[in-house]
This record gives sequence, structure tokens and C-alpha cells, in this order.
Amino acid sequence: MPQKPGDRNPSPYPMPFYRVIEALRTLPGIGVRTATKLAFHLLKSSDEEVFALSGHLSLMKKELVLCSVCQNIRELPENASTDDTVCTLCRDPSRDDGLIMVVEDVQTLYAVERSGEFQGLYHVLMGRLSPLDGIGPDSIRIKELISRVETGQVREIIVATSPTTEGEATALYISRLFKPVGIRISRIAFGIPVGLELEYVDDMTLIRSVEGRRLM
Ligand SMILES: [Zn+2]
Repeated sequence: MPQKPGDRNPSPYPMPFYRVIEALRTLPGIGVRTATKLAFHLLKSSDEEVFALSGHLSLMKKELVLCSVCQNIRELPENASTDDTVCTLCRDPSRDDGLIMVVEDVQTLYAVERSGEFQGLYHVLMGRLSPLDGIGPDSIRIKELISRVETGQVREIIVATSPTTEGEATALYISRLFKPVGIRISRIAFGIPVGLELEYVDDMTLIRSVEGRRLM
């Protein structure tokens, strides 16, 4: 039987401290040295600070849900009614609901949103096509995008997936799906180094590449 994390403590530290290091190490970009440094920092912090942090983390998991239209994260309001499932962006009447930017993840949505220059709506795929890893159209939010197009309001889709092999394959798939039904499909174009994840691109480069999109 595989050992559960925390079953065994190979470190010189007491078990409760070792568990925190191991938990922090699961975060992206955090190695054992940084995890240990952070754990010592938390240990030195006041009880109030540490309880506030753990409280914020649980509330984030409890109070955030996905928008039923675009899959952006949204706050679950208290006493939410069943038809209250749409995020503030999708509800904003000043935004152009005929223009949809397709992104791989919520981070990219917020990267574009920070620039304040895009006035359309978004569609978060929650991933990208990667046949080698068994990720096909049914594993990402393509069906939801088809439903949005079927409402008849959408006239243009900007495919803002990363310029990686999987991102390009996803863009091509979307283009083949919607071009035949008369939707204008464009792809963000220049300024972004090939192979780079969009969430790491600076805001200005990202918005220029949206402006310079090309038709597919
Ligand atoms: Zn939404």
C-alpha cells in the first residue's frame, strides 16, 4: 500500500512542521528550501495572521464558483437564487456579446482584463486540446462554446490560446468548427514568443497581440 503523505517523517523537524513544508511544496515554483523558509515565517507569525490566512484559503474554495456561461470564477452570493449563475462580466450590458475571446484558463482572462482594452466577453476552455495526453474536445469546454454560438448572437471569436503546439491545435479546431457556420474567427498574432504560456506574457504585449489578430 502506498504511504499517505505525512505517514513518515524523513526530516529533522517535528511532524506538524514537516506536514506544512510538504503542503507548501505542492505549490508551483516552491522547492523544499522556499517551503521551509515559508513554514518558519508562518511559525513566527501571530496566531491571528495564520488563522486569517487559512480562513481566506477555505473561503476562496467555498465562495467561488464558475460562471455558467463563460466559466470565469465568480463569487457565490449569499442566498443565491438558481438563475443567479452568471459572472459580472457576462452580466455587464456595456460589453459586446457578439465578440468572444476564447482563453485556456482564468489567469489569461484576468491578464487581458487588466489591460482594460477588451470590451467583448470571454470563454474559458479550462484547458486545451492535447490528444497525446488524452485531452479531446469533450475534456474542455467546447460544448459550452457551441451552445453560445447557437444563440445566434456571436459574430466573432478571437482565439487567444497560447502559441504552443496544443494551443495552435485548439485554435485550428475552433476555427474548423465555427468558420463553416459564418463566424469570423481570428487568432492573436504578434509579439508573443512561440512556445510561451500566455499567462506569463506582459499585459501590453498581450493586448497588442489581440489588436493585431489575424483572420483564420
Ligand atoms: Zn461569465
